[in-house]
Amino acid sequence: MGAISIRNVVKRYGRGPKANQVIHGVSADIADGEFIVIVGPSGCGKSTLLRMVAGLEEISEGEISIGPRVVNDVEPADRDIAMVFQNYALYPHMTVYQNMAYGLKIARVPPEEIEARVQKAARILELGSLLQRTPRQLSGGQRQRVAMGRAIVRQPQAFLFDEPLSNLDAKLRAQTRLEIQKLHQELGVTSLFVTHDQVEAMTLAQRMIVMNAGRIEQIGTPEAVYSRPATTFVAGFIGSPPMNLLQGQADGSRFALEGVSLPLPSAAPRAGALILGVRPEHTELRPDGHWPLKVEMIEMLGAERLVYGRLGQVLFTVRLDATLPSPRLGETVRLEVTPEHLHWFDAGSGQRVVP
Ligand code: ADP
Repeated sequence: MGAISIRNVVKRYGRGPKANQVIHGVSADIADGEFIVIVGPSGCGKSTLLRMVAGLEEISEGEISIGPRVVNDVEPADRDIAMVFQNYALYPHMTVYQNMAYGLKIARVPPEEIEARVQKAARILELGSLLQRTPRQLSGGQRQRVAMGRAIVRQPQAFLFDEPLSNLDAKLRAQTRLEIQKLHQELGVTSLFVTHDQVEAMTLAQRMIVMNAGRIEQIGTPEAVYSRPATTFVAGFIGSPPMNLLQGQADGSRFALEGVSLPLPSAAPRAGALILGVRPEHTELRPDGHWPLKVEMIEMLGAERLVYGRLGQVLFTVRLDATLPSPRLGETVRLEVTPEHLHWFDAGSGQRVVP
C-alpha cells in the first residue's frame, strides 16, 4: 500500500539557461512500513526531495509513486500523505482536540469516527489529559506531539517529517526521538524523515539515504553505512568525530603519507594513490603499536578522551576510553589498528575500493 518509489528524479528551480539544477537524478525504493531517514548537509537537497514527494514542489524530470499510483500530477491534498514540519503552526484559538480534529472535519469524516481517531492518537501520544488546553498552555514538546497527532488522525499511507525536532532543546529532542520510534512501532506507517543531524539519522532510521550536493551517496542500514561507507563523503559525514581519511601511496603492506611510511596490518587492495580511512574509535594505544603518533592536543569528554596528533605531517584523531591512562602532550605514542577496521577509497573518485 504505502511503498514510495522515486525514479530518476531531477529538480531544477527556474527555467531555460538560467535554471538551477539541485537534484541530479535520484532513485530510491522505500518499502511499505519502512522508516527511512534522508540525511545530508544543509543545502544538499533533502527538503526539496521530500517536498516533491509531498507535492509541494514540481518534479522537473522522473517519476514518484506512492502505493501503486504515480503522483507526479496529483495534488498534495490527494496524495494521502501527512507532513510534520519544524514549524508546526497549530491554530492558537483552538483546543488540542479541535486542532487534531480540524482536518477530519473539513474532510467531512463522520463525528463518531473523528472522536475515535482523535482519542486513539491522544492515547498513543499521551495527550489525553491535555485535550482541552490551547497551544499557548503547552510546552514546546507537547505542541510537537499535537502536530504529530494531527498527522496520525488522517491515517495516511505515509508520514513525511521535515526536520521536525530542530526547534527543540537537546533533552527534548532525545525524548521526542524515542516517541517517534514508538509511534512507528505501533502504527507501522511508511515514514520519510529529513534531518541534517547524523545522530538523529543513526538512531531513527531502519535505512538511511545519505545525500550530498543533490545526489545519493549511499542507501543502507545505519550499521552498513557506518561499517562500510560507500564513499569518503559518507565516511566523513557519519560518525563523530569523523573517520580519519589519510591520502597516501600504497605499496604492498606499506602506506606512505607525508612524512611517514606506515606498516599495514593487512596488504592494501592495490598499489598507488589511495585514501585510507580509520575511525578514531578503532585504534588502540599499545607499547608495541606500529604507528607513531605525536600528541598535540587532548580533549576530555567524560566517558572518553579525544587525542589529536600527527602521523608524520598528517592530522589524526584517536578516541580513547577515559578510564585508560591519558597520553601526555608532545609525547609520541604507538597506535595499533586491526585489519578489519581499515577502509580503502579511490583517491580520485572517493569511492570505496572493495579489497
Ligand atoms: P536541504 O533541505 O538539504 O538543506 P534544500 O532542498 O532546501 O536543501 O535546498 C537544496 C538547494 O536548492 C539549495 O541550494 C537551495 O538554495 C536551493 N533551493 C531551495 N529552494 C529553492 C527555490 N525555491 N528556488 C531556488 N533555489 C532553491
